[in-house]
Amino acid sequence: MLQRPRGTADVLDPKEAERWQWLESTARRVCARAGFSEVRTPTFEATELFARTSGESSDVVQKEMYTFQDQGGRALTLRPESTASVVRAYQEAKLSGVHKFYYLQAHFRYERPQKGRLREHHQFGCEILGTDAPLADAELIGAAWTFLSEAGLGDLMVSLNSIGDPNCRPAYRQALQAYYRPHQAELCTDCQRRLEDNPLRLLDCKQDGCQALKTGAPKSRQYLCSACQEHFREVLRLLDQVGIRHQFDDLLVRGLDYYTRTVFAISHAALGAQSDVCGGGRYDQLSEAIGGEPLPGVGFGLGLERLLISLGESDRVAQPVRLYLAVTSEQMQGPALALAMELRRSGLTVEVELARRSLKAQFRRADKEGFSHVGVFGPDEMASGALTVRDLLAGKESRHPTTELANILRTGAPAL
Ligand SMILES: [Zn+2]
Ligand SMILES: [Zn+2]
Repeated sequence: MLQRPRGTADVLDPKEAERWQWLESTARRVCARAGFSEVRTPTFEATELFARTSGESSDVVQKEMYTFQDQGGRALTLRPESTASVVRAYQEAKLSGVHKFYYLQAHFRYERPQKGRLREHHQFGCEILGTDAPLADAELIGAAWTFLSEAGLGDLMVSLNSIGDPNCRPAYRQALQAYYRPHQAELCTDCQRRLEDNPLRLLDCKQDGCQALKTGAPKSRQYLCSACQEHFREVLRLLDQVGIRHQFDDLLVRGLDYYTRTVFAISHAALGAQSDVCGGGRYDQLSEAIGGEPLPGVGFGLGLERLLISLGESDRVAQPVRLYLAVTSEQMQGPALALAMELRRSGLTVEVELARRSLKAQFRRADKEGFSHVGVFGPDEMASGALTVRDLLAGKESRHPTTELANILRTGAPAL
């Protein structure tokens, strides 16, 4: 029997499908309120788009891309991330001015599959294009913060750093190279290569030998030019002003070459060591790397598989209300369907018994299939217009007029 490829997943369980839909609709709601509109880009792009933006020396380009040649001999790559595609799309459509986009897309990276990190994984991300104002950094970080809060993650903390721009970065690169060169033998093989191509990435390495060296490394903040310093100060001041908890982390860098100035990560205290749930930064030179006009931008991305695991562990995912309408006899199936249709029109998720099972078997099915509530519909209920509903999670029963049922089950209270 053939199986799905390693590092991919099926969503088959109705409860899991609902968790995905709930998380995606939370993202869409937060974005709509803040004026981000959805962007959808092609699943594959020219390989060069990612090679030029992520950096030839990045792990993504070196080891993780799904690259293939099509029948016409073009080098194509399944997108490993979306920022480069969004910038390309903006430029290709000849947009101008400030635009705010969000995406919910699958990304593909050939890496060792682990819990919450798949070869095909899904990301929610936002991008603000067309401005280098610190206010855009603050609004963007605010959007990620609001989403994570509304998804139910508490104890959030933004860590951030500034890694400078083409004006001041060269001096910082040289300082890093000068610091690391005498220790070259202690570095992992990846970092020995990175030392020449992109020494900032040495600060990001998780290998023990490289980790030990990074505390003594020169810090980017000491090398920022006055424009970058001013930009960063303003971002920090705005985050204070909007009440987003943050801390300065002078060892924070990001794995892709296109980042400039602000880089950040958002962590969630309850997750412990591997606690980053979101990462992003500013990428003011990305557009020029693909041959476009200068276009400043700032964005974040967050992996939804990992977030669902975090939410599952903290047990904060809203339980969707699903009512199973059991019937006392076959004659009651028609009236039960009429009630179900009425409740569905009021926004409730309802299923009715379609087979002719015993009441006991119907209860078993409701329990097994993860319904939150079950109600028994018989001649008494039809005559009285009231239904006794059992909350399967709380193990409690209550009786309500059918006209108020949708409201009571969805909000826990009758409509005023
Ligand atoms: Zn290393
Ligand atoms: Zn600078």
